[in-house]
Amino acid sequence: SESVSENDKYSSDIFAMDTYMSLTAYGAKAEDAVTAAIHEIQRLDAMFSVGNTDSDVTTANMQGSATVSDETAYLVEQSLEISRKTDGAFDITIYPVMELWGFTTKNYKVPQADELQETLKRVSYENASLKAHELVLKNNAQIDFGGIAKGYTSSRVMQIFKEYGIEHGMVNLGGNVQTLGTKTDGTAWRVAIQSPQGGNQYLGILETSDQAVITSGGYERYFEENGVTYHHIIDPKTGYPSDSDLTSVTIVCADGTKADALSTSFFVMGLQKAESFYENTDLDFDVILLTKDNQIYISEGIAQNFTSDYTVNVLKK
Ligand code: ADP
Ligand code: MG
Ligand code: MG
Repeated sequence: SESVSENDKYSSDIFAMDTYMSLTAYGAKAEDAVTAAIHEIQRLDAMFSVGNTDSDVTTANMQGSATVSDETAYLVEQSLEISRKTDGAFDITIYPVMELWGFTTKNYKVPQADELQETLKRVSYENASLKAHELVLKNNAQIDFGGIAKGYTSSRVMQIFKEYGIEHGMVNLGGNVQTLGTKTDGTAWRVAIQSPQGGNQYLGILETSDQAVITSGGYERYFEENGVTYHHIIDPKTGYPSDSDLTSVTIVCADGTKADALSTSFFVMGLQKAESFYENTDLDFDVILLTKDNQIYISEGIAQNFTSDYTVNVLKK
């Protein structure tokens, strides 16, 4: 391949999907590639947004069924697969509960217990089914792709970069990173994994190439009421913000869609279930977990590529 240097860099920052995003590509067509990728992000934002009255998702949520696009169908399929595999820790029918907590409007409130129980009756991934492009939602179920759409989007950005002949690039969608190839000097990308404490603190640095590095944590979106913090990742079994022993979950996987769904799932599952899932699954991915007592658990496939000041425990298959 032709030689590409730091000088062939083109970067752009945008706000979409309620998230600050940054795109970087290197090469002769870097600017065209980034511009095309931004258009794609805007198209996907409109398609997947529950706030867009014209989206497939909104139509299905309002009418109980809809004929949906290839991509909506793909995200529903992927979501249902991960729901089945995680025994419902991941569940796109969580939407009515998100609404009740005010996460959809930012008018946050702690719901009444009885109201929450009523709403929870509508929540089950088994209420959602797909036949070809016909999405059916039973029992007043409603869906949202908040736990999976950004991972799909980062994978699409990488595909577009490749279509423009880009060999080195990276996208960061609010802490959800995906890399293409290596850096221009041939060394691995160095991805800082955000700390739940925020600021400039991080859990460590992961050297990685051609992978999605997707992180879920309760610190990304939350509100406080009477001194209690309520975050935006809900345990579908209780309707409350998940209160597992994990404070951060990073999934490293070539497939951004799977990585995103799994990061949300593991956060809900907690260390023990996450560990046994990792040991037994046929899916190919790596993990970096942080527990409430500040222990890091990292899978053996990437342990050598991670540098951290924390105590690091290695997970083996
Ligand atoms: P972020 O979008 O902040 O990176 P996640 O990928 O973990 O974080 O997704 C959180 C979003 O996913 C929530 O805002 C909500 O839309 C949705 N969600 C919350 N709980 C669940 C769940 N148990 N399963 C699937 N989606 C969920
Ligand atoms: Mg995330
Ligand atoms: Mg997710």
